[in-house]
Amino acid sequence: MSTKTTVWLSPSATSFSCLCEPCLEVARSSGALFADALAAARVHGEIARDVEATVARCVGGHEIVLLRSARPPGLQYPDERQLQLA
Ligand SMILES: [Zn+2]
Repeated sequence: MSTKTTVWLSPSATSFSCLCEPCLEVARSSGALFADALAAARVHGEIARDVEATVARCVGGHEIVLLRSARPPGLQYPDERQLQLA
């Protein structure tokens, strides 16, 4: 069973923010409040635009594999423009 979390980045992304799935599981199974579990599992950072793939680590030391999609995001990816509508 892999403990790696894989995150796909859009071609123009220069930063990332995601949740470490193993940390989320640990926090939830320990009885933490969901909001606390989310905060504990949050991983974010920056990535240079010409970097195609890299590995980040959460505070718990789990690997977060960051991969940049070569093509424009398909339907399975959230639309960043929609997220910015407020
Ligand atoms: Zn983790």
